[in-house]
Amino acid sequence: MAPATNCGKKWVQELIQDFIADSPENRLHTEDDEVTWEGALVGFAAGHDPIWQQYKEYVGAFHWTPWELFNQHRPETNVGAAQLTVISWILPQRRFVRTSNRQATQYPSEAWARTRIYGEAFNTALRRHLVDCLERAGHPAVAPMLVPNWTVVQSQRFSYASSWSERHAAHAAGLGTFGLCDGLITASGKAMRAGSVVANLTLEATPRPYATHRAYCLFFAEGTCGKCIERCPVGAISKAGHDKERCRQHLARTRRYVAETYHFEGYGCGLCQVGIPCEARIPVKAARDALARGELPPPPPPLA
Ligand code: SF4
Ligand code: SF4
Repeated sequence: MAPATNCGKKWVQELIQDFIADSPENRLHTEDDEVTWEGALVGFAAGHDPIWQQYKEYVGAFHWTPWELFNQHRPETNVGAAQLTVISWILPQRRFVRTSNRQATQYPSEAWARTRIYGEAFNTALRRHLVDCLERAGHPAVAPMLVPNWTVVQSQRFSYASSWSERHAAHAAGLGTFGLCDGLITASGKAMRAGSVVANLTLEATPRPYATHRAYCLFFAEGTCGKCIERCPVGAISKAGHDKERCRQHLARTRRYVAETYHFEGYGCGLCQVGIPCEARIPVKAARDALARGELPPPPPPLA
């Protein structure tokens, strides 16, 4: 395939926003045919950005770089890391979904559980749509979460971790930083879902407007907050961070509740993503104001 020349960032952003606006799959499967997502934040990271190697050192050697991922699945293209771009997006939860889950104290609201299942099904469709569009335009592309060898592995540092993390891709693409509960705090807050595609396409990277990977969390930036600790019904968040195994066990229990209460096969929680200062915005005022002014910090130190 001959590479196309007019596939710029605006084209990619419009592909994503148009699919959100037009796809009949963007539904919560409710009686009133409610839409799941209203729009997306989109960022771009270079395939040869040193942060991918830092992830291997910080998360684990099993975490793919874009080049490793791409060349496993499109080896015939024979491209270098600098010829790849990671396209990342954030789908912010709608206000009524967030509001409903704020009332929850143990199990998710129906709207939240529906978003977890049907919203993620749409997110999968969006990944496929973007890959198809890029391929048709002459740019081979791979959605990391959709490859058959994407896997979750035991991790000494994190209990378990995966070979590709949408939140880490979003962080690399300038879309947010991590909070005490492990969630990614974006300009639209932490209540969101994320997606990404790696493409043989060279686009200018989105600058990362933060000095550290925790700059948007009040706990790390100002030594305050910790509200997500109180929101977790099973004590999976503490000042030491996020107990992923305890969280996973609670998520598994929510399946029965969702089936018996809402009458569909689903699960979810997200109580720590709502009713907290980072629910729908960056809670650190200085960071929020700097972002609004378009200021960039000095280059961040390596992850530690
Ligand atoms: S609720 Fe507070 S401590 Fe928890 S992630 Fe958000 S800003 Fe950080
Ligand atoms: S998703 Fe639920 S169980 Fe997991 S940390 Fe958040 S509040 Fe706790």
